[in-house]
Amino acid sequence: MLRDGHIHLENGPLSVDYAMRFVEAAINVNMQEIQILDHTHRFLEFAPMYERLKLASPKQREWLEKKKLEPLSTFDQLIHDMKQKNLPITVRWGLEVCYDPTQKAFIKNVLSQHNYDFVIGSIHSIDGKLYDMPFSKQILWDVEDVDHIYKRYYEIMEDMIASDLFTQIGHPDQLKLFHNEPMYDLTPTYHRIAKLAKEHDVYMENNTGIHYRYGHEDVGTNPLFLNILKQYGVKIMTASDAHVSEHVGQCIAQIS
Ligand SMILES: [Zn+2]
Ligand SMILES: [Zn+2]
Repeated sequence: MLRDGHIHLENGPLSVDYAMRFVEAAINVNMQEIQILDHTHRFLEFAPMYERLKLASPKQREWLEKKKLEPLSTFDQLIHDMKQKNLPITVRWGLEVCYDPTQKAFIKNVLSQHNYDFVIGSIHSIDGKLYDMPFSKQILWDVEDVDHIYKRYYEIMEDMIASDLFTQIGHPDQLKLFHNEPMYDLTPTYHRIAKLAKEHDVYMENNTGIHYRYGHEDVGTNPLFLNILKQYGVKIMTASDAHVSEHVGQCIAQIS
């Protein structure tokens, strides 16, 4: 079965017409199941969670303040309307939460007021600094030790899995995107993550976004990590991280 478990509406309106473009694209590339979502940074209710990022860097403040925030009720209405349709494939709806371990209670509270089919926890920042932006070199990679960044990334991931707030963990080795490699062996870390993911029954993504968007040679999660996850019997979710409908299902057949 071909499944794309991570598709963003980020670049368009929260409308049925726009969402249907993604559903149609998925049907065209033979996906049988898709998960549509958006980042929490699109939504008003989550705005307080990003204060830390705004304080940490003027570039992050500028990036966040450019966004036009919408209430979750707009998204919930879209989900409601889409669920009235009789679609030929399974379409599930959720959020990608930008995880910050200091915001667990806040995240729990917001999520408790909504009802999503799935909730992805993803790490996009290391102690308040985004690692995947054009300016990340300047604010993070050039000022912090790479090993320290990796240690924090996986410590935060362990905390995120153990929080039981999420059903799925986003792009679990995305730190590799700019080819900044740690000096230490990640094998023991991968074992710890796999054990926890199994215990907490979360999906771990095999996400192809870094391959086709950043040109990284791995098509999805690196083979060592992926094999360890499979050894522990962890559930794997194939995902494209599409931000436009043309990318739905991208490289999914290769990793399925
Ligand atoms: Zn993400
Ligand atoms: Zn994403």
